[in-house]
Amino acid sequence: MTEKPLDSKAAQEELEQRCRNFDENYGPIRERAERAAEKSGRKGSDVILLAATKTVPSPVINHAIEKGLSHIGENRVQEYLSKFDDLHLEGVARHFIGHLQTNKVKSIVDKVDMIESVDSLHLAAAIGREAVKLGKSMPILIEVNIGGEANKSGVSPAALEETVGQIAQIEGVQIQGLMAIPPICDTEKEIRQYFEQMQQLFIDIGAKKIDNSHMVYLSMGMSGDFEAAIESGANLVRIGTALFGRRQYV
Ligand SMILES: *Cc1c(COP(=O)(O)O)cnc(C)c1O
Repeated sequence: MTEKPLDSKAAQEELEQRCRNFDENYGPIRERAERAAEKSGRKGSDVILLAATKTVPSPVINHAIEKGLSHIGENRVQEYLSKFDDLHLEGVARHFIGHLQTNKVKSIVDKVDMIESVDSLHLAAAIGREAVKLGKSMPILIEVNIGGEANKSGVSPAALEETVGQIAQIEGVQIQGLMAIPPICDTEKEIRQYFEQMQQLFIDIGAKKIDNSHMVYLSMGMSGDFEAAIESGANLVRIGTALFGRRQYV
């Protein structure tokens, strides 16, 4: 018992340190994103900077929101639900970016504004059913397994057009773009090839003008590679470590 005040003091200092990390990182990251956007002929404001907030405690997320953060992305249902009541999310776009099991859809469909990680017809159907019950239509992105990795979720590039066509017909979901997490690469050249393949898929599928699908967002790029992603056409980047520091798993 006597140790408790010490523990909570240490915990408080830890939170303050994490807020300072964010304050130091946010401006420079925004500037880098803006420069990458300009390099590809766009404006900084054309690229959405989404903070990947997994493992980040609610007070730190709230601090980041006060400092102007407009988009957050969570990727574990249980963690998001456990933080939800403490988060000050008014005016903030809430994205789900992790692997989603169909039996968990119901618990988040009223708490997110977009689900970026739709990797099957089955999942899209489950989202549509729950959204319809709430009288809404859920914006979704289709996750593409651009590296063809066996251990990663996502629709294969070869099956993309057919899957988009099928999901587009589901009531209660609105396809608004594509999302990808390319394989870990040794070189920047290699990662750029994946980003460029995604950009081409995004353009090609957009040109097909599939009914009820709108290719607006191309979500790719994380802390280590977001500038390369933006230069290849990403307009939504998901950044965790570079904003909040190394993740601490508890
Ligand atoms: C954690 C996560 C990110 C951010 O990763 P960092 O390397 O920390 O920037 C982006 N996208 C998804 C889907 C994630 O789970």
